[in-house]
Amino acid sequence: MATGFLWHEKYMWHDTGSGAAANVEPGEHFENPDTKRRMKNLLDLSGLTDKLVRLNPRMATEEELRRFHTDDYINQIRELSEAFGGFAGPQTPFGRGSYEIAKLAAGGTIVATEAVLSGQVNNAYALVRPPGHHAERDLGRGFCIFGNVALAAMHAREIWQVERIATIDWDVHHGNGTQQAFYDDPNVLTISIHQDGLFPADSGKVNERGIKEGENFNINIPLPAGSGNDAYSAAIERIVTPAVMSFKPQLILVPCGFDASVYDPLGRMLLTSESYRGLTTMLLALANDICDGKIVFSHEGGYSKRYVPFCGLATIEALSGIRTEIADGGIRDDLPGQELAPHQEALIDEIAHQVKQAFLHNSGRLV
Ligand SMILES: [Zn+2]
Repeated sequence: MATGFLWHEKYMWHDTGSGAAANVEPGEHFENPDTKRRMKNLLDLSGLTDKLVRLNPRMATEEELRRFHTDDYINQIRELSEAFGGFAGPQTPFGRGSYEIAKLAAGGTIVATEAVLSGQVNNAYALVRPPGHHAERDLGRGFCIFGNVALAAMHAREIWQVERIATIDWDVHHGNGTQQAFYDDPNVLTISIHQDGLFPADSGKVNERGIKEGENFNINIPLPAGSGNDAYSAAIERIVTPAVMSFKPQLILVPCGFDASVYDPLGRMLLTSESYRGLTTMLLALANDICDGKIVFSHEGGYSKRYVPFCGLATIEALSGIRTEIADGGIRDDLPGQELAPHQEALIDEIAHQVKQAFLHNSGRLV
């Protein structure tokens, strides 16, 4: 049993600026290096890093970027990066040199995926930056420049001939970019569990289910604000698990954000590090059942400097099966609101019903 861990110091050099805006005093952008660096520091301090298989990223090539992104968009990012930086899109500033760093994030997710597909490791965690799941074909959004997980899935399909891939995104925001990348593709099942209406405000609804051949191969689970451990567990147990079991992917990719944690400044969910440990254990069991344990996590959002490190540690502990002696550093561990509330259960069961019908339809169509 070996878990790969991918990291590079250059990820911390992606410069998102001072966060200044109209009437906002210059300080720190929400997406700054600290949460990720502190997560890496805690992994080191716990002794866990030493027990993982170190993976080194490479930059994605322009040819690899073009599998998803347009030439114009790639050129625009490169030219701005060679000058003094700029914006990849709304909310997505970057500094000089970020073109190379964003290619290193996409390439890092590709390297981690290849390490799992080749059997070098059983599973892997890529602690990359900038994140990727909001990046669209020709537009950066939500702090994301290139679609790290979308590009890794396209690489696995094209180079490794992986027939079917499932992505399970639990960042608190909707994985709109990954959804767009495979919206008409029946070979990649894209699933996103997120806070309803948070970001992007106009996407992530239940009725966005894919088009053409890809119809019914996109699943959105927009949970209401205030969802805790049991709502997330129920969503995975009642919706994600049966969908993935009937889809039978050979690989699972997880756009992994920790901004559904109770301490996150940009989300209003209630997960704790123990929730992430439990949810990771569920996804690992699913991967073991369906695709020989082949699962790759790629880091997305998560903005609590204090708490992201503990969520990340618990996740990688569950992934590797190695428990360290580091205790959760949250403010309290008996937070209320973790039980499944009736309005949450009604929504989850309704989506589960729709997905079951859709997959009955899919299997009929495929036969
Ligand atoms: Zn997010």
